[in-house]
Amino acid sequence: LFITFEGPEGSGKSTVMQAIAERLNQPLITTREPGGIRISEAIRELLLSDDNLMDARTEALLFAASRRQHLVERVLPALEEGKLVLCDRFIDSSLAYQGYARGLGADAIMDINRFAIEEHMPDLTLYLKVAPEIGLSRINDNARATNRLDKESLAFHQLVCEGYDYLAEQYDRIVTIDAARPIADVIESAYQVILDKMK
Ligand code: C5P
Repeated sequence: LFITFEGPEGSGKSTVMQAIAERLNQPLITTREPGGIRISEAIRELLLSDDNLMDARTEALLFAASRRQHLVERVLPALEEGKLVLCDRFIDSSLAYQGYARGLGADAIMDINRFAIEEHMPDLTLYLKVAPEIGLSRINDNARATNRLDKESLAFHQLVCEGYDYLAEQYDRIVTIDAARPIADVIESAYQVILDKMK
């Protein structure tokens, strides 16, 4: 099974994913793009570098290219070994950020990502939903807003959230989890959704 975690900044994706990985009693990997993959790391460095010259389509193509390499080098081999794969962000991040918030449109982002990932869509996606004000205050408290993309405006993050809401309505594989609650409750809900899927 290929399970992805999605949500805006400060939704707790990586914390929830790690906690669930520790509770699940089976062979698995946890990963995130670029996931230590040399080519994807190099692309990420370009994506996060602090200038404002990057065109939105260039950004979308680079995310898709990074995703492709990480999929081929890390995700697919683990799935082939029969492992569960838990991945922090995947195609829905591009649909929400570049498609919806940057305004490139879901169709264009779907097209380039289909090319990048072929038929390898997630089996299940947990969308950790939290209002941008709450999410952003969490990352600011942790002094985590460090790169070009983290510094986007509240209005941008509002659009990202709208994008995720729209995706969750559209796709059955996406399960929405209320991530404004205390982290232990979020972990518990996410864990139950995954157990259900594995039945
Ligand atoms: O995974 P993480 O939350 O650390 O993402 C790193 C940065 O890349 C964040 O600022 C996120 O908003 C941004 N991002 C993006 N488009 C994607 C994936 C991530 O703008 N498709």
